[in-house]
Amino acid sequence: MEQLHATRALNRFDSRPTLVENPSEFAPPGPPVLARPRGLHYSDRMTRIGFGYDSHRLVEGRDLIIGGVRIEHELGLSGHSDGDAVLHAVTDALLGALAAGDIGQLFPDTDDRWKDADSSVFVAKAMGIATEAGYSVANCDVVIIAESPRLGPHREAIQRRIADLLGVEPGRVGVKAKSNERMGFVGRGEGIAAMAAVLLTAAGE
Ligand code: MG
Repeated sequence: MEQLHATRALNRFDSRPTLVENPSEFAPPGPPVLARPRGLHYSDRMTRIGFGYDSHRLVEGRDLIIGGVRIEHELGLSGHSDGDAVLHAVTDALLGALAAGDIGQLFPDTDDRWKDADSSVFVAKAMGIATEAGYSVANCDVVIIAESPRLGPHREAIQRRIADLLGVEPGRVGVKAKSNERMGFVGRGEGIAAMAAVLLTAAGE
């Protein structure tokens, strides 16, 4: 009998508690079952989601770095750091999930330490905060909005680089590139924008 669980509301025509072998097989629409399904691990820690957005101008005389990958192009992204809007969005998604401020607070553009910095240091710092808090990345999803260059050929390299920085396998990182249908600042080729969502879970779960 040890394996049996008392549940209520499994029998909708009888309010008496009922013994069932595996309540997880049922999905009662009423009150929650009294027993937890066996085999599932419950944690007091929250799963946390974060979202980030960034954009940078395309200018002459700069390397184009997107998602930590250097891409041949006649223009690059301006910025105090290397201008990598994708890694900035990923950093802000991590920080947002942790309610730990934003990239501008942690790495102000008035600080010469971050001048022309490789933006992977920002992701690494945010990951350090996540690890310290006991979280690891479940998955990440990224949208890059650029009229040019075409990013399709670089998608896998960007995916691998972001996965490396987040300490996960590439299969946990989605990378999608979109044009902006020639609308707005992206459509006019004035800049590139990026959005990222990150899900954190308690490390080891
Ligand atoms: Mg930025």
